[in-house]
Amino acid sequence: MSGGAPAAEWFDRADPDTGEVGLRFGCTMCGNCCSGPPGYVLFTEAEGRAIAGRLGMGYERFLAEFTEETSRGRSIIDVERGRGFDCVFLDRSSVPGKAVCGIYEDRPAQCRTWPFWREMLRSRDNWVRAKGMCPGLDHGRLYTPVEIRVVRGGSGGERP
Ligand code: SF4
Repeated sequence: MSGGAPAAEWFDRADPDTGEVGLRFGCTMCGNCCSGPPGYVLFTEAEGRAIAGRLGMGYERFLAEFTEETSRGRSIIDVERGRGFDCVFLDRSSVPGKAVCGIYEDRPAQCRTWPFWREMLRSRDNWVRAKGMCPGLDHGRLYTPVEIRVVRGGSGGERP
C-alpha cells in the first residue's frame, strides 16, 4: 500500500452550482430516514448494550423486545404507524411537528453516520437522488472532505 493523500473524489471538487468544496447537511427532524419501507438498523453488541442500559433493561431483554434477526444481521425492529414503518425508537409526539430519536445519544453508528454512508458518497447522482427523501442534504453546516471521510470511515460496511 502506498501512503499520501487519498485519490480525489467527487466531493473534493467544487460544487458546480455553489462553488463550495465539501457537503452541507443539517437535519430538520422530519423522520424520513427513520421511516418508510421496512428496513434495517444494524448495531454492534456494544451499541446494543448501551441502548439496553439507556432503557434500563438487560441486554437479553432488549434483544427480545426491540430487535430481530435479519439476513443482514440483528436489527432494531420497525413498527407500522400509518405513515410507513417507523423505527421503534422514533418519537413523533414529544416535539410538536418533529420526529426525534428516542435513543439519540446512544443511536448506532448506522444512524450517527447518515448521510455520509459509502453508497451515498459513491457519486454526486446518489447524493442528489437522496435529496428527495432527506431535506437536510445540501442545507446546514458545510462538512469538509476530511470530515466527510472521517464520518464515512465510522459508518461500517454497506448499508441498506
Ligand atoms: S431524513 Fe434527513 S432531515 Fe429528515 S430526519 Fe433524517 S437526516 Fe434529518
